[in-house]
Amino acid sequence: MIKRQTTINSIFRISGTGLHSGATVTLEFLPRREQGIAFVHKGRIIPARYDMVDDTRLSTMIASEGASVSTIEHLMAAFYFSGITNCLVYIDGSEVPILDGSAWEFYQGLWKAGVYEFNEDNVYLKVNRPIETSQGDAWVRIKPLNTLDITMTIEFRTPVGRQRKRVMDVENAFSIINSRTFTLMEDIEEIKKAGLAKGGSLENAVVIGANDIVNPHGLRYRKELVNHKILDLIGDLYTSGYRILGKVEAFRTGHHLNNLLLKELFSSEENYSVY
Ligand SMILES: [Zn+2]
Repeated sequence: MIKRQTTINSIFRISGTGLHSGATVTLEFLPRREQGIAFVHKGRIIPARYDMVDDTRLSTMIASEGASVSTIEHLMAAFYFSGITNCLVYIDGSEVPILDGSAWEFYQGLWKAGVYEFNEDNVYLKVNRPIETSQGDAWVRIKPLNTLDITMTIEFRTPVGRQRKRVMDVENAFSIINSRTFTLMEDIEEIKKAGLAKGGSLENAVVIGANDIVNPHGLRYRKELVNHKILDLIGDLYTSGYRILGKVEAFRTGHHLNNLLLKELFSSEENYSVY
């Protein structure tokens, strides 16, 4: 468990293709003194924070004054897992690369860059009372607890069905970091028609066919799909700007509900304490 604010100890770069744009993008990671993760695009600093989130339909996108960065959630989860609280990410496009569809390469890059610790704390946010948001039959809620404990349930057509997973020690749940994004076969055409998923392939997403996983090597974990939803949730929760402590339970949640949960949480200072 980290106790103080941290940044990376050396500069590094990662390049790859944007899932939706198909464009090649390079990220350059720089140490930052100021608290928080922020992107720099078109000369503008965009804090990777819940109140900068502009679109949550297929990924989490942040925007400020005409500059935007989408699909930030896997990178944000990598920052969470590597214990980095402060960092500047220069990006020469408007979408974070999808890489293998998980947070693995970002996590490796951050790990190799090393950690520099500051004296300041204020890195944890403890939830003081239950907060819940829902839409249709989907919901996500958080209750007071001294650790981050996540229970996620997903439900899709066969062969996925209903899958549930509880992670009690999220900071050390390494099978979450390299669990890949996924899509149903029938949704691909729809998404491509909308001009999205131009960079999508079996190299960066799990594709669920009529009866089985389409990818030749199948899944990395039996619960890879629900693991990935936990990864997305961790990345989205980290846009709070803090390492959240609480017992989180979610049913079919997504980027939109995750963002609403944070807006609800920050709607009253009595809902949380920071230390
Ligand atoms: Zn994802």
